[in-house]
Amino acid sequence: MKREILVQAYAKINLTLEILSKREDGYHNIVSVMQSISLCDRIRVKTEPDGIFVECSCPGVPGGRDNLAYKAADRLKKVLGIKKGAWISIEKGIPSAAGLGGGSSDAAAVLRALNLLWKGGLSEEEFADLAKDVGADVPFFIRGGTALAQGIGEKLKKLSPIPTLWFVLVKPSFGVSTKEIYEKFDSMEKDIKIRPSHGQLLTALYRNDLISAAPHMVNMLEGVTASLYPQVKDIMEVLSGEGCRKVLMCGSGPTVCGVVSSREEVFRIRQRLLKFNYPWKIYIARTVNYGSIIINRSKGGKIWEREDCRP
Ligand code: ATP
Repeated sequence: MKREILVQAYAKINLTLEILSKREDGYHNIVSVMQSISLCDRIRVKTEPDGIFVECSCPGVPGGRDNLAYKAADRLKKVLGIKKGAWISIEKGIPSAAGLGGGSSDAAAVLRALNLLWKGGLSEEEFADLAKDVGADVPFFIRGGTALAQGIGEKLKKLSPIPTLWFVLVKPSFGVSTKEIYEKFDSMEKDIKIRPSHGQLLTALYRNDLISAAPHMVNMLEGVTASLYPQVKDIMEVLSGEGCRKVLMCGSGPTVCGVVSSREEVFRIRQRLLKFNYPWKIYIARTVNYGSIIINRSKGGKIWEREDCRP
């Protein structure tokens, strides 16, 4: 009998992003407070007798071998040394090439789902090693929640959940390449003076003091992406004008995130933005304490509810 799992894979934002140095392999050493948020993709994973098939109907996101979910499934199959196959269907809710880690989250969710379906029995530590090979951000999404990421993002310290924050996410119509942004960072590095203070941020967040936390939410790539794509700056100004407590770019961008402290505020700001017909996509989200949620349909788990992804 074919077995099937449904999994919701959640996006992330970087509450801080500090770039320390460039490594010999071209990657950058970073320090980042990463946080899972409620915006998610939905993935259907079924066992097949042989082969790995990945389909995704979202424009701009490849199916087949070029999808990160394929890479994850293929790596797991090799590590387990098994003959079984899988069929993976991805419904995107997370905008792609947006700085929200959608591809990495899908990869981590597929690893978790296939470990169950294929009875791989891998521990979290074994996952972490495997995940690292699929992509630098993938280990974070295996557990998700709040974590301090170091190295190229793969060295993780799981942190206690922070009190709930709410986000208005605004994405312009284009995506950016993370590689392009880091290359530009290298040429601008000496001009970037501002650095986040991860410890001070966390102390203020755990006190539930968003006003004190706000100045410590710093993304060192913000000015870099904004210099290449001025719309990022336009969005930041609009969100600041709407009274967000903090406006921060997500990862390498171009999505910009307005941080607010209440559900009412987040809905009010979205309503106002929608009235102006900006050529941008607007999403709302809240903090969540997991990277993915698995629903086992073979055991009678019910079909996902769209509400699960909403704040
Ligand atoms: P990064 O992790 O590089 O910062 P991001 O979060 O900005 O990435 P993603 O949505 O992960 O962006 O997409 C990056 C690229 O990966 C896209 O251009 C897309 O072609 C490719 N890709 C491969 N698999 C997926 C997937 N499952 N979902 C989204 N994009 C994918």
